[in-house]
Order: sequence, then C-alpha cells, then structure tokens
Amino acid sequence: MTRSYGRTAAEMRPIDFQRGFTKHAPGSVLASFGDTRVLCTASYNDGVPPFLQGKGRGWLTAEYSMLPSSTNSRKARDRNGRVDGRSVEIQRLIGRALRGVMDFKLLGEKTIWVDCDVLQADGGTRTTAISGAWVAIADLLTKMDERRILRGWPLVTQLGAVSVGVVDGECLCDLDYSEDSRAEVDLNLVMTGKGDFIEVQGSAEGAPFDRGQLDSMLERGTAAIRGIFEAQQAALKTT
Ligand code: UDP
Repeated sequence: MTRSYGRTAAEMRPIDFQRGFTKHAPGSVLASFGDTRVLCTASYNDGVPPFLQGKGRGWLTAEYSMLPSSTNSRKARDRNGRVDGRSVEIQRLIGRALRGVMDFKLLGEKTIWVDCDVLQADGGTRTTAISGAWVAIADLLTKMDERRILRGWPLVTQLGAVSVGVVDGECLCDLDYSEDSRAEVDLNLVMTGKGDFIEVQGSAEGAPFDRGQLDSMLERGTAAIRGIFEAQQAALKTT
C-alpha cells in the first residue's frame, strides 16, 4: 500500500505552522499536517470562571469546530447552542491537553481562549489542532509578557499530538482520512516536551489489539511527536 507523500509507516505528513495567519488574535496559527488545516487562535480576557475566583490563578478554555466546507460533504455549522457530540469531545480534549502544560499561578486571574477551526479535514484534525494551538499560545504569552502582565512564563513545556493506527495489520503514523476510515485501531496520543503522556485515546474499531501492537503504536507516536516539537521550535524561530 502506498501512503500519501510517499511516506513510510513511521513518517508524518509535512508539518507546517504559519504564525500570524490572521491579524486580530494575539496568537494566530494555521497548522497543517498534510492536507489537514486548522486555524488555531489564542486570546485572553481578565477574570476566571466562578469556581476559580479569588484563588489567584488562571484558566484556559478551548473550542473546536469544522467549517461546513472542510469536509467531503457539507457539514452543518454548530449553531444556536447545538454543538455536535464529536466537537464537544474534541474541544474538551484540546482544553485538557493545553491545561496540562500551563502553570496557572503565573498567569494570574485571566482566562485564555483557544479557538480551533478546521478549514480542511483529512484526518487528524484534533492532533493538528493541539499541536498548532501550543504555538498560538506561545505567541499570545510572548505578547502578554511584552506588556508585563504575566507573573512569570506559564508554559511549562511543549505539547504535541499525533494519531497512530493499525491499518491492514500495520502500525501507521499520522493517518489521513483514507487510512483513518479503514483503520482497525485508532489511537490519539498527546505528549509533553518532557516525554510524558497527557492523553492516550485509543480504541479498536475493527479487531481488538494486543499489548505488542499498543507498544509499537506508543513507540511510533512518541518518535513522531519529537518531529512535531522540532517543527514548533522552527516556527517560533521565524519572525
Ligand atoms: N470527518 C468528516 N466529517 C465529520 C467528521 C469527520 O469528514 O463529520 C473526517 C475528517 O476528515 C476527519 C476524519 O474524518 O479528519 C477523522 O475524524 P475523527 O473523528 O477520527 O477525528 P480526527 O482524526 O479529525 O481528529
């Protein structure tokens, strides 16, 4: 079986983080894993949700949505409070993942908003969103730091995510839609720059998987995320 971009089983699609993609949000990154493109923006406002008030620490919340034309057949917009279950699941994952690398005491009583909008979907939209949102948050915090409104640098470490799966019995990294739609196992992996896991979201969609397959998926995913960290660092070095 040939893979998109002529890649091997262990290789990711081309990664790109285009910073400053739109002008109003302090962090705005067009994140691409191959043909999957997600606009990740980060902004903040003063104040925190009621359960955190008076505690001197901040919060981060994330929203995720797919544009109607991002998919093969038109997808209805999330409207009038009707957000589909999949979007809710994904935005909770994005928020949890990003909160996992933040030291909120250093943010003070402020809330960071991360908005991930899928412009084009071709598998791995949540992993592209998480990886790109980390870059958008780095840009937001740099601007907040320049205005001297941080108590310290709240991003503890890097954050990256990748999908790994078993297709035709083979362990593949960064599945595109054609692979994802026939995967026997689908696993999304979120890791920190320290090499720790924040989330391992895996399920058998066809046949159950064994311990050996899980180990190879974790190994492949860990190596792929190192590549994402390098791409993030490279993107942050450009002006
Ligand atoms: N997809 C779609 N319409 C939908 C949901 C998903 O076309 O309503 C496609 C899209 O290409 C997406 C892929 O199916 O990237 C895999 O979706 P999944 O729910 O596994 O999440 P993702 O891999 O995007 O994080």
